[in-house]
Amino acid sequence: MTEQEDPSRERLKNHFAQRVTHQARQILEIWQRLQANEWSPAGLTELNDANLRLLRFADRFEQPEHTELARAINVALQDMEANHSRLSSPIITELNRLMQRLSRTGLRQGDLMAHICLPPLRKPVYILLHDLERAERLAKQLEFFELNAQAFGDLTTFRHAMAERHPAAIVMDVDFSGPGRGLELAAEAQIGLEQKLPLLFFSLHETDTPTRLAAVRAGGQAFLTGTLEASSLMEKIEVLTCVAQYEPYKVLIIDDSRAQALHTERLLNSAGIVTRTLIDPIQAMAELADFQPDLIILDMYMPTCTGTELAKVIRHNDRYVSVPIIYLSAEDDMDKQLDAMSEGGDDFLTKPIQPRHLITTVRNRAARARHLKARMVRDSLTGLYNHTHILQLLEDCTFRARRENRPLSFAMLDLDHFKHVNDGYGHPMGDRVIKSLALFLKQRLRKTDFIGRYGGEEFAIVMPDTDEQSAYKVLNQIRQRFAEIHYPAQPADLSCSFSAGVVQLQNDADSLQMASQADEALYRAKHNGRNQVQHFHQLRPNATICAELQESVTPL
Ligand code: GH3
Ligand code: MG
Ligand code: MG
Repeated sequence: MTEQEDPSRERLKNHFAQRVTHQARQILEIWQRLQANEWSPAGLTELNDANLRLLRFADRFEQPEHTELARAINVALQDMEANHSRLSSPIITELNRLMQRLSRTGLRQGDLMAHICLPPLRKPVYILLHDLERAERLAKQLEFFELNAQAFGDLTTFRHAMAERHPAAIVMDVDFSGPGRGLELAAEAQIGLEQKLPLLFFSLHETDTPTRLAAVRAGGQAFLTGTLEASSLMEKIEVLTCVAQYEPYKVLIIDDSRAQALHTERLLNSAGIVTRTLIDPIQAMAELADFQPDLIILDMYMPTCTGTELAKVIRHNDRYVSVPIIYLSAEDDMDKQLDAMSEGGDDFLTKPIQPRHLITTVRNRAARARHLKARMVRDSLTGLYNHTHILQLLEDCTFRARRENRPLSFAMLDLDHFKHVNDGYGHPMGDRVIKSLALFLKQRLRKTDFIGRYGGEEFAIVMPDTDEQSAYKVLNQIRQRFAEIHYPAQPADLSCSFSAGVVQLQNDADSLQMASQADEALYRAKHNGRNQVQHFHQLRPNATICAELQESVTPL
């Protein structure tokens, strides 16, 4: 037996790899704290120390990806020190990029409403149900969502497993091993743990308030009843095992005075906010599209136009209707200030301004705007981007792909014979399938892909840095796996497939053309028998066949 094949050595290696991921998780938590509160020197020292520890562990336990990231973080932190310990937009942006990468090491997309999953999530979920067979079936279903789950039928094996390894979460039947016993067992399992395990209670029947109270007291964070279904369970677990992610706020400063702008930039950077300055207000729209700021700081008086005029121009574009605009000016005439605010501005700050006042105002406004935007651009059933927003993202991505000369693919998906699902199993079941596909896509696509709900049972996916071949491959794998899922239902389990069309950005195409090309490929997938993925460019029938195809299709 070679060293590599030795299972105990493999296990040891895995064990140490977990220490590295644990350390990575700590760094991400510090990063999030820095973002959530204002940056403090003490926080930075903590980040630095934690990173040096990661570097040591990763080196020692041979985790090259972590070593590389820890080195890069170290370089960024040293750059900052060389810059008189001053944060700057490039340094914050670079650190953020590295943190994003760190959060993704070994993970797929877990992006649920701007939440990300932090490692280690490869840990299993322990499932303890009164009905063991049901627990085992559920564990199998969870595997489709790339979640490792383990079912337990008796107390001894559970206790044994707990002593061996703590799970990512526990799903506990309130009646496991006796009426109400599950509650006690769960509470017992948490005793002495430094960090409480995410705990979900389940009850086959609707329960009364005292039981629910007992569940809360036992540390339960969620309570599920009725048919315990993999996708809804998965959704809960995802939320419980994820930590909110903070991206640095982005602020665009429009001011004809370079000195004033630089001063504002310095103040905001010191609080971990990324900034960009625009001296010429005429460039504002292009800059907005490129930078996508969370907030705009606008000078009142500039040579080419006034701040209020520019604010109106910005507000004319639907996309920027809700980006907060703060005027920063020496104007201290209250009437003029109020006029300015009624012309598209949200706030008026008078120079010279207290640094804390500026920082707090910017952070609060930006936070609220982000919150609002997240709700505006998302579909409420699935949490995916809505129709309008996914098309905007596609447009942004076509510009970027062209500028950077990189491939971009776009896909449209449509559930097959979905009418039958609604007709045969009811609309709520249909909704469940839609939600489950949404989750499935989130789990299996990269974090850099954008997923949208295009219409009722239609989805759209923007895949940056991906050519048509690779997009096809990924989608085809997802298609195969999705069709294997069984949803428990009466009289028979339900399974569902989808068809998809993919297209890659061509030189002369724009985002609207891409969307209609993907639609055309999807149409072909449907026509060819469904449950398949079609390319737009390859296998493209010539014009006559296309015409024949259209004639031969009877309207559904
Ligand atoms: P095809 O394979 O050709 O796509 O067949 P289909 O039945 O899926 O297509 P069709 O477009 O005829 O029907 C789509 C159905 O999807 C009709 C509509 O009631 C249903 N649907 C759309 N949105 C929702 C939704 O949000 N929830 C549920 N449950 N059903 C929806
Ligand atoms: Mg449809
Ligand atoms: Mg359909």
